[in-house]
Amino acid sequence: KPLRKSLRTAMDMLMTKRKAVLSDEEELQMLRTLCEHIRQRSLARLPELLEQLEENLTKRGVRVHWAETPEQACQIIYGIIETHKGSLMVKGKSMVSEEIELNHYLQERDIRAVESDLGEFIVQMAGEKPTHIVMPAIHKTKEQVSELFHQHLGTEETGDVDKLTGFARQALRDVYRTADIGLSGVNFAVAETGTLCLVENEGNGRLSTTVPPVHIAITGIEKVVAKLSDIPPLYSLLPRSAIGQNITTYFNMITGPRRSDELDGPQEMHLVLLDNGRSQAYGEEQMRRTLQCIRCGACMNHCPVYTRIGG
Ligand code: SF4
Repeated sequence: KPLRKSLRTAMDMLMTKRKAVLSDEEELQMLRTLCEHIRQRSLARLPELLEQLEENLTKRGVRVHWAETPEQACQIIYGIIETHKGSLMVKGKSMVSEEIELNHYLQERDIRAVESDLGEFIVQMAGEKPTHIVMPAIHKTKEQVSELFHQHLGTEETGDVDKLTGFARQALRDVYRTADIGLSGVNFAVAETGTLCLVENEGNGRLSTTVPPVHIAITGIEKVVAKLSDIPPLYSLLPRSAIGQNITTYFNMITGPRRSDELDGPQEMHLVLLDNGRSQAYGEEQMRRTLQCIRCGACMNHCPVYTRIGG
């Protein structure tokens, strides 16, 4: 019952916010059609765009890896960590890393992977899986989070959400400073420029990708788009659909490791491109459309089954 109540309240809130920022029906339909065309156009040229992306990223000093299966992706990431004799990874939010069960793989090899997105941080601490692709800990009440932090971080029990956020921030600062590797997802990868776009609200994505000496980005092969000019419409739709915000607090455009004239950023950068059945979906006309998804999560908010049992 508490799970249903939390989900219902959260889904209603997300739907109301989305409606408010997408109140002009005509604009919404135009934007959806435009984004659908961008995704279809990109997918129609997927093999060619992936090669272009690899070429442009390689020119900028990024090492690109191809993984057919989750096992291969985990092996590649573990191999990079081993090369650097690493033992601690700080992670920005990445649903693909959930898909390949990276944390579990690394834990079995004595590598500590710490989630830095607040929702992911909470579910990891609780030993659970994310319930929602955009809001991973949406099923938790603030009382449950307070108790969890009290048990694991030794913090005082409180119902003050700002205080709870502060406790997590404090605990994560040390992790950023000492992590050997930072890992992130990718929302859109631009082939013509070799740019990886990362959309986030907490700043943890930026810290995870710039503070540790090595940054590993991981994404599915379908996330590539042709041109930089494809990004504004997609970015206009994603946060509005996902969380009812016109823009996010951070929009990162990552174009490689630190250059000689730059003061910060990782010294080394990798991109892991995961297939895991996407090529097969690509080859089937009906299934190919599923690859157009921009992972906004809005359909989950409207799904009557999801809002009762979670995901
Ligand atoms: S998450 Fe759902 S609503 Fe959002 S783009 Fe994908 S299928 Fe569409």
